[in-house]
Amino acid sequence: MDEKIPVAILGATGAVGQRFIQLLVDHPWFEIVALVGSDRSAGQKYRDLKWVLDSDPPPHIGKMTVLDPEPGLPGKIAFSALPSEVAKIVEPKFAKAGYAVCSNASTFRETVNIPLLIPEINADHVSMIEKQRRVNRWPGLIVTSPNCTTTGLAMTLQPLHQVFGVKQVFVTTLQAISGAGYPGVSFMDIYDNLIPFIPGEEEKIQSETCLLLGKMVADERIPAEIGISVQVNRVPVSDGHTISIAVKFERTPTVEEAIRVLANYRGLQSTNNLPSAPKNPILVRKETDRPQPRRDRNANNGMSVTVGRIRKCPLLDLRMVSVVHNTMRGAASGSILNAELLVANGFVG
Ligand code: NAP
Repeated sequence: MDEKIPVAILGATGAVGQRFIQLLVDHPWFEIVALVGSDRSAGQKYRDLKWVLDSDPPPHIGKMTVLDPEPGLPGKIAFSALPSEVAKIVEPKFAKAGYAVCSNASTFRETVNIPLLIPEINADHVSMIEKQRRVNRWPGLIVTSPNCTTTGLAMTLQPLHQVFGVKQVFVTTLQAISGAGYPGVSFMDIYDNLIPFIPGEEEKIQSETCLLLGKMVADERIPAEIGISVQVNRVPVSDGHTISIAVKFERTPTVEEAIRVLANYRGLQSTNNLPSAPKNPILVRKETDRPQPRRDRNANNGMSVTVGRIRKCPLLDLRMVSVVHNTMRGAASGSILNAELLVANGFVG
């Protein structure tokens, strides 16, 4: 690529927006040219706002002025880390103005003709973009990333589903505080505690997982028929969601077969050379006490899902535990991989 593609970040001041900045400053294809916030931050220098990640924002980013969420900004791709109710208004405006919008909000994940993507498992769902553009008369487009926990669950299940057919899944999650954004959950609520409810989360994990593991028939997305029961919990971990999973299959694998399938998984070949694609989307750990969020969330720059404790289940077939980095693979890095997929497929002009 001779020149980098200019990109804007919508919601650049939040937990996910800051991850976008951290990941995009040295990206080989993309260059940040606009940062967007709400009227709480618009007009201010980025360096004067609160940075919640380690160290400081890069100096040239700190000098940029935060802009209003109106098209007319420089950039061809708009990475969106907006709250869902804001995304509903803002993202279509940007698609109408010609941007390729890569969204992290839940707003359009289940909307007809809008792909919900994890490139390694369903890159072919970009085929619905043509109809999306035609129906909406958008020169731009919207693609979405799944809920952060869905990402960890779907990436764990997909390799097994392809080979053994997943029928039923029981899931219990232990989700990090950063999943609630900034400032997120109050210290008084989460310290020495656990909160067994996250609004809307269980429903999203159920329906999005079936969409991701589904099939494209002509240009229609047919969800996989998998029964999924989920209990979510917010826990006092800074980053990294842990997912405890029990699975029933159409054809029961042995523990060794399941480990082999997961460890050998490379995802769709067409995505293997994208700059952010990890060599191993799944890492299998065999120690009895792994994965752990603090030790495993950054595997392969936070792009791999780590799976461990793969064993027989006394009720269903197999049990296992996965860890996914919620603001990286589960949000910003996942979205950047989506954008790379769009570029590789000629959707960003
Ligand atoms: P957050 O920390 O609360 O950040 C929200 C961002 O949106 C801030 O930059 C905020 O700007 C901006 N914003 C709010 N209202 C706005 C408005 N009216 N106009 C323009 N900008 C506005 O949230 P987050 O955790 O980064 O999450 C962002 C999105 O990603 C959400 O849809 C969330 O569900 C999704 N997501 C989050 C995670 C995660 O792990 N956190 C994972 C997957 C998906 P100001 O600071 O200027 O107000």
